[in-house]
Amino acid sequence: MKRCKQCGDELTARQLPSMAGSSVGQKGAGNDVRLVIQPMPYLGCSCGAERRAPFPDFFPEVRPMINDKLPVAKRAMFGGKLSCGSCGHPLASDLAAMRTFRASFALEGTIPFVVEIVAKGLTCASCGSEQLALDKQLDSDLSDALIDAIDRERIKPT
Ligand SMILES: [Zn+2]
Ligand SMILES: [Zn+2]
Repeated sequence: MKRCKQCGDELTARQLPSMAGSSVGQKGAGNDVRLVIQPMPYLGCSCGAERRAPFPDFFPEVRPMINDKLPVAKRAMFGGKLSCGSCGHPLASDLAAMRTFRASFALEGTIPFVVEIVAKGLTCASCGSEQLALDKQLDSDLSDALIDAIDRERIKPT
């Protein structure tokens, strides 16, 4: 069991009410993406100096799951046009507007939490489903927002 060098505590399971980050102002960011994790589980001590991810590979595990759990538009192999992730109807990318998306996580080894993403979304004209206008740039901006949140709260790998 790891201990804090400052207070000598063994690190135990704790949580922040929320942890937020964004891609705004990040180098290479193309879209504004805001991300909030509520609550944010971590391993910590009583003095607060030591904060670590709830288990090894927590963040590498959560990052791709965000794409899997959120409704996302599909991008054609050729031409790069977006189509509805539910029904396949073509989507007009120019109608993208900021939307809020939420996904619940229940991972083994930690408490359940919700990931909220505010980013460019589209509504399908055919089936009405709202989805993230996920292209390569938005995917990378989403990673930037998560890294920003981790940096702000000084959570280190476990
Ligand atoms: Zn401490
Ligand atoms: Zn559709």
